[in-house]
Amino acid sequence: MDLAETSAWITYLRNDSLLQPLWDSLRLNYSDYLRSPLFPIVLTVSSYFIICLPYLICDIMGDRWAWVQQFKIQPNRRPTASTLLHCASVTLYNHVFLVFPASVAQWAWRPPVDLPERAPTLLELIAGVIGNLLLFDFQYFIWHLLHHRIRWLYVTFHAIHHNYSSPFALATQCLGGWELVTVGFWTTLNPMILRCHLLTTWAFMVLHVYVSIEDHCGYDFPWSTSRVIPFGIYGGPSKHDVHHQKPNTNFAPHFSHWDKIFGTHADFSFCTPVK
Ligand SMILES: [Zn+2]
Ligand SMILES: [Zn+2]
Repeated sequence: MDLAETSAWITYLRNDSLLQPLWDSLRLNYSDYLRSPLFPIVLTVSSYFIICLPYLICDIMGDRWAWVQQFKIQPNRRPTASTLLHCASVTLYNHVFLVFPASVAQWAWRPPVDLPERAPTLLELIAGVIGNLLLFDFQYFIWHLLHHRIRWLYVTFHAIHHNYSSPFALATQCLGGWELVTVGFWTTLNPMILRCHLLTTWAFMVLHVYVSIEDHCGYDFPWSTSRVIPFGIYGGPSKHDVHHQKPNTNFAPHFSHWDKIFGTHADFSFCTPVK
């Protein structure tokens, strides 16, 4: 891409009016729902189950879908009915005892948010989403490193997530309560710190759910984020799969730079697939 093309792209992305019709339609037709403090929770919880579903179907179909199975990272290790049920029950427990009470508290104590008239530009939205992913990546890298290096933290809070050395989509939220609360807190707080537009915040939340599930899905499809994003700057499913096989590597959830800086980065070639 030459300089003229690059500047034409930037002008296009900075165009104020691109997202305005979408924002106006949302703002004018669904204002009551969007202003509710419950909306971000409903958005992320429903995104989680909707995005998990196709991966779950791939797991259940197994060898009947040979084309899909060629992308399985650990081809000989598939979740069994009991592992799927265990993760589903942990997820249900977390939702009943943590997410639901947090939702009620938000609904009771937080006033409805104001919807601004102006939509973000596409450039603001993309920059906001990337900024949020980078900030979360840094926070979780530190949290994750400490929860592996300090035995008490590992055993008490993080070990449950390492029940499975061959991850699958439903293992994404097979988490202890403290980890779920921490992740939810940063996902809510970071867009406020970065002063993001609500549309940017919601786009980040849905994308964050997607990339977190993709990290655990157990498949390295041709459209995996690590394949689409060049120069190895993004970890994606194969890198996080390595973390579940070799838990002292690949602590960052999304990008590769923190693990490279701290010497904890490992490629899939470092692992011997378990038969
Ligand atoms: Zn994981
Ligand atoms: Zn871990």
